[in-house]
Amino acid sequence: MQRAGMRLTISTVLLAVLLLPSETAWGWGFPAHRRINRHAVELLPAPLGDYYRAHSSWLVALATDADQRKRYSPEEAPSHYIDFEYYGDGPYAGLPHNRRAAEERFGRENLPKWGTLPWHAVGLTEALRDAMAAGEWERVLVLSADLGHFIGDGHQPLHTTVNYDGKDSGNDGVHSLFESVMVSHFLERYQPDNPPLVPIDSLAPAIFGWLEESYGHLQALLDADSRARQGLTGEQRQALTEARFNVAVASLPAGYLDKLYAGAGQLAWDRMELAAVRLASLWQWAWVQAGRPDPPG
Ligand SMILES: [Zn+2]
Repeated sequence: MQRAGMRLTISTVLLAVLLLPSETAWGWGFPAHRRINRHAVELLPAPLGDYYRAHSSWLVALATDADQRKRYSPEEAPSHYIDFEYYGDGPYAGLPHNRRAAEERFGRENLPKWGTLPWHAVGLTEALRDAMAAGEWERVLVLSADLGHFIGDGHQPLHTTVNYDGKDSGNDGVHSLFESVMVSHFLERYQPDNPPLVPIDSLAPAIFGWLEESYGHLQALLDADSRARQGLTGEQRQALTEARFNVAVASLPAGYLDKLYAGAGQLAWDRMELAAVRLASLWQWAWVQAGRPDPPG
């Protein structure tokens, strides 16, 4: 199994950050990804937390690297989503947690089309554990930041469905409008709590369960968008369809973004907070599983 995170070196990551600074369309907006990683660093207890806080600028800056890689690595994109509908009617927590078993059941050629986010996130967490056990601490930072990206994506309901941009339900354009435009516009209202880390009894069931939970929020999100679009003209709806992360908010139909926020703002904040606490919990899980190695002083 190829995993983009495992092919990384420090230099290629830094190169990507330096050379490709502009933002891409899919995935929580870059400010949200950075906010999730920063919050997770704050939540992590010592001694690992002290090490992460000493390197927080890396852990935050590299939160968006995975989206940048999509520009030059065609294998990257499927790791960022899973179209659950292709995998049957659910419950999806019951999907084969082993990727090879999933390939046998669904066809090896289909996984890259249908999305592989949960298998990728499990493999990345295991790679993080192994890097900790081997004392490869720079690699630990890169993998930890990268894992934050995928746990973030996994908490965005539109990353779990074939209807990822609302085309099947009259919500065209909702992906960026929700995760980038709305979140960035209102981000200063995001005041997350500092909840305790969550216990992870078993890695794969936890990650698969979080993704299924995200899928469970999909309809509420689409309904909020539908309510925000009520009364819009065809021309105004077309403007939403074409909206992307960098759209000028003033060019959107009057009132749309406020209505979307009224219906889906709390959902976004809840998902981001959960992503952060679960990310910190995965970092801690990897460290415990690695035998609690001392981070460099
Ligand atoms: Zn992504």
